[in-house]
Amino acid sequence: MLYWDSFFQSGVLEQNGRTISFSVGTQGARDIVLLDNREILSLPVPFNADGNLYFPEEFVAALKKNLDKARQEDATRFRIAAIVVDPGHGGKDNGASGEHIINGRKVMAVEKEINLAVSLDLYEKLKAGFPDKRILITRTGDSYLELGERVAKAHALPLKANEAVIYISIHANASFNKSARGFEVWYLDPEHKREVIDKAKFSDQKEIIPILNDMLAEEYDRESVEMARSIARRFSESFGKELPSRGLKAEQWFVVRKARMPSVLVELGFVTNPEDAVLMLSERGLQKFSNSIYNGIMDFVNNFERSGGFIAFQ
Ligand SMILES: [Zn+2]
Repeated sequence: MLYWDSFFQSGVLEQNGRTISFSVGTQGARDIVLLDNREILSLPVPFNADGNLYFPEEFVAALKKNLDKARQEDATRFRIAAIVVDPGHGGKDNGASGEHIINGRKVMAVEKEINLAVSLDLYEKLKAGFPDKRILITRTGDSYLELGERVAKAHALPLKANEAVIYISIHANASFNKSARGFEVWYLDPEHKREVIDKAKFSDQKEIIPILNDMLAEEYDRESVEMARSIARRFSESFGKELPSRGLKAEQWFVVRKARMPSVLVELGFVTNPEDAVLMLSERGLQKFSNSIYNGIMDFVNNFERSGGFIAFQ
């Protein structure tokens, strides 16, 4: 793809998201050519003759070499290949619920419904925002899922060695104390060691499984904490005093524990608190919740992919 500016006699070539910016000169002239607006090459520049634009051989060869190199780098760069959104509960499992009188009307805040509404909205936003990733949702209606089923889909995804999946479970909180309110973002307790390696793959090297598991679990933990932080930051930014932060929490949540991937669990607010319930039941609140989670995921993904994945994250 060539974008051409005839007034400035300059152009941008684009291939698979890589760009080459150049200016046209006279035949035989060398000038600066920019790769991805970053790397500078000095090459004989394209020139006009008989009303045609000519690309010197050295220019074409250098670009081809650099595009091939970039393609190879892309193939080994760590990336998030898929994002799984998990609306908590469903079907016979309502989750928590709270009854409130709002504007003189009796209203029920039912966790499974709130989780689903926010998740479906988040799911659509992720699909639009990350067309290069697979976006999954564990349920799209009021259906009941066993806990193992929620992560099974994600585990079944075919992944390359440089690819990871992230998992976001969405819930709402409840308390006997009706004044308890605010959001929480949970990640797995780093003390808890999960079994993350598929034993079948290493059947003849059993002694290394626990070691590899420790290493992987630690990486997943670190990613999970980082993702939890990103989401919590966006919640605070977006809601301010409207929805207090109850902070990051570490626990051995079952859903999260079963997930062999960086994963977090978000508690949007309390169905038992009238202010939180109003927020979670309103269209405006729903949008704010899904936007905050979306932006938190985006921050995490950008950092993760820019840093080259698990290793460089801190
Ligand atoms: Zn729940």
